[in-house]
Amino acid sequence: MIRVSDPPVGPENRAFAAVGIAVILAIVTMLLMSVYDEHHFSKHRIGINIAPSEQGILIHGVSADMPAEAAGIQANDILIRIEGREIDSLQTVDEVVAERTEPDAPIELTVLRDGQEITLQLVPGVPIDIAGLLAQLILVGAYLGLALLVAPYRNVDLRARLLMLFVTLVAIEMAVPTGFTFPIWYFHALVLFWFMATGVQIALELHLVSLIPRRLRVLEKRPRLVWIYYLVGIGLGIGLCLLAIDIWFVRQDPTSTVLDTAQSAVLSSWAVAVAGILLWQIRKADSPRGRNQALLILVGLTPWVLYVFLSQFWAGWDQLGTVWTQHLENMVLLFFPAAVFVAIFRYGLFDIEHLVRRSLVYGIITTFVVIFFYTLLTTALPWVSERIGDENALWLVTGIAIATGLLFRPLRSSIEQLVERGFFPERRALRQRLIQIASALSSEQHLKDLAQHLADETRQALGLTWVTVVAIDGPGRDLHTAFSEGINPEQQKALVGLLDTDSDTFEKLSRNQRPLTVRRLARHLPEAARELSLMGAEVLAPLYFQRRMIGILCLSSKRNGDLFQREEVELLDLFSHQIAASLENLRLFQDATYEGLTGLLRREAVLRQLDAELDRATRNLTNLSLFMIDLDRFKVLNDAHGHLFGDHVLEQVSRVMQKSVRAVDSLGRYGGEEFLLVLPDTDREGAERVAEKLRGAVQELEFQIPGSEATAGITISIGITGAGPDQGYPEGGARVLIESADRALYKAKQQGRNQTVVEHWAPEVA
Ligand code: GH3
Ligand code: MG
Ligand code: MG
Repeated sequence: MIRVSDPPVGPENRAFAAVGIAVILAIVTMLLMSVYDEHHFSKHRIGINIAPSEQGILIHGVSADMPAEAAGIQANDILIRIEGREIDSLQTVDEVVAERTEPDAPIELTVLRDGQEITLQLVPGVPIDIAGLLAQLILVGAYLGLALLVAPYRNVDLRARLLMLFVTLVAIEMAVPTGFTFPIWYFHALVLFWFMATGVQIALELHLVSLIPRRLRVLEKRPRLVWIYYLVGIGLGIGLCLLAIDIWFVRQDPTSTVLDTAQSAVLSSWAVAVAGILLWQIRKADSPRGRNQALLILVGLTPWVLYVFLSQFWAGWDQLGTVWTQHLENMVLLFFPAAVFVAIFRYGLFDIEHLVRRSLVYGIITTFVVIFFYTLLTTALPWVSERIGDENALWLVTGIAIATGLLFRPLRSSIEQLVERGFFPERRALRQRLIQIASALSSEQHLKDLAQHLADETRQALGLTWVTVVAIDGPGRDLHTAFSEGINPEQQKALVGLLDTDSDTFEKLSRNQRPLTVRRLARHLPEAARELSLMGAEVLAPLYFQRRMIGILCLSSKRNGDLFQREEVELLDLFSHQIAASLENLRLFQDATYEGLTGLLRREAVLRQLDAELDRATRNLTNLSLFMIDLDRFKVLNDAHGHLFGDHVLEQVSRVMQKSVRAVDSLGRYGGEEFLLVLPDTDREGAERVAEKLRGAVQELEFQIPGSEATAGITISIGITGAGPDQGYPEGGARVLIESADRALYKAKQQGRNQTVVEHWAPEVA
């Protein structure tokens, strides 16, 4: 893929617009001249093709169903007199034709056939060649349309620039009037222009196909080689011009076929070279999309290549007649823009999907609305008026118009879907895949898992080298970063630095609020963008929720080398909003469930858990144990070394305890330094073992006292209670169990702390 700088703004664009408008005006003027010329000339037309030859002006073609044929003129007759005036050159023919004041009057031609002079009368004039004019209009329109379509991308994609120049040149060439009412110098100038235009077209087209889908490797290594195209193309153009000048003015030999031979040699080698390069490109393309792009261009050019060869080398060609070959040529020429259109729309040759999608949707809507109203006004209205009266009919039409306006949105969205299904099936598949990913995320329980899942799935769905997800956690703005595979540890480290909450990139993204390509970022932060693109990053999508940036989705370039299309970036925008919502939901859930300092369940959460587990145990007749845990003489520790130190101890003790219990156990912070532990499926013996384990683990902890060499330790006291098939289940529910555990804890404290006491939840039953 070619990366050229972003479009400059300002004078360059204005100058471009001025040139563009001038070119379009010139083309329109030329088309009008063609129409005028056709209108004027059709009255003089008799339907012969003439060329100077050794014997004189040779009639080498007689068109079917034209005045000349009707009058009995045959091919190979030599034209010697018109209206009694001797004809010795094409110029005299033009003069005679121009002098005729009454074009409709019969004209007298004298020809030489088999050595005999034959004089014939004929009435010139044929109907205007509407089909021909229409074909010219369509062709010029198609080429000009293509130029306009790709013009906005001329500074972003070199191929767009080349294609624009090429098709504009072809459009001009086809718009130039070629009627017979122009003076001979005009034809000379025209032929010279054609030759030069052909030369430039050769160069542009060879250059263009060398870049589709991507730059030929030779050119990659030696970019200067591209000048060969231009030297050869323009050289050939100049060569043909010199040859023509030599034949017209120096040798003055109109019968010479040297020019024709040279021209057909140039055309055929051009065709071979273009087809050859495209075949090579198709063979070397490393993605189906790229291959399809090159293939389509080849398909678009194949009729032209065949046409060039048949017209140059097939003997039967001339028998087809000029009318047929002209039609054929038009169709062949129309193939190219058609194929390029498809390559653009279907295979994203340029990033104009966005533009096309919009124009298609609105084009269809406009057509629909226009046809609807037209039908309504022409057929329905009179019919309705007859029945309900003019005034009522007017009200009815107004009502229907308003209803159509209201229907606009649903109409637009269903047409958008239709367009998407018909023209952009991959995009639709990608959209659905992203929706799937986003909705799967909402079932994740932990931020880490969510971020990892997101990174892996997005990488897969978009075919990227790697994906990095940065999630900002809570008000402390901690960063959680998840990396997919495909990014090495060094790059990971650098990326974390670049996307840090204090970084300029973060700042820029949070202001932008929408996905940003690294290429665009380069305009504002060239340094960061350079580093990012060295790592292969291509798009950064901020994760926004309620005007707060809660993360970044950083995407590398695609593995197949395609650039992100604008439509895909838009899709990412939607996607990142959904992800942000999932992230934020998870965070809210976690905030509501987990406690900030210790990361354990909050009081409400652990109580809920206790209720649920007690219910379950009662239903299934299983055991359940409950611990109430309290730190021993924690106040002393706090008073001696400060609350911050106390917090640190709390945090560490919580962590160790959490590690010592099973995943099915629920450990929560009940009060300041009191904890509740719910142990499902655990009988008294099991509970005591867990308690000893916990006590042992906590006792082993050593805390470095700040500002001193010494360390401090801490112990815990545990009160245990339980319910089960043997003890029964409390009718008063969890409250009864908590009271019981509390009593046990109290006993443990009284008996000297750092110990476990087991109490039955309902002494009266025991
Ligand atoms: P005992 O062995 O009898 O439990 O003695 P104790 O000092 O631990 O007494 P008690 O459990 O009544 O003390 C609770 C103390 O814990 C009071 C408060 O200073 C401290 N505390 C409670 N929550 C926190 C907290 O979040 N951080 C810190 N640093 N201290 C806390
Ligand atoms: Mg205590
Ligand atoms: Mg306490």
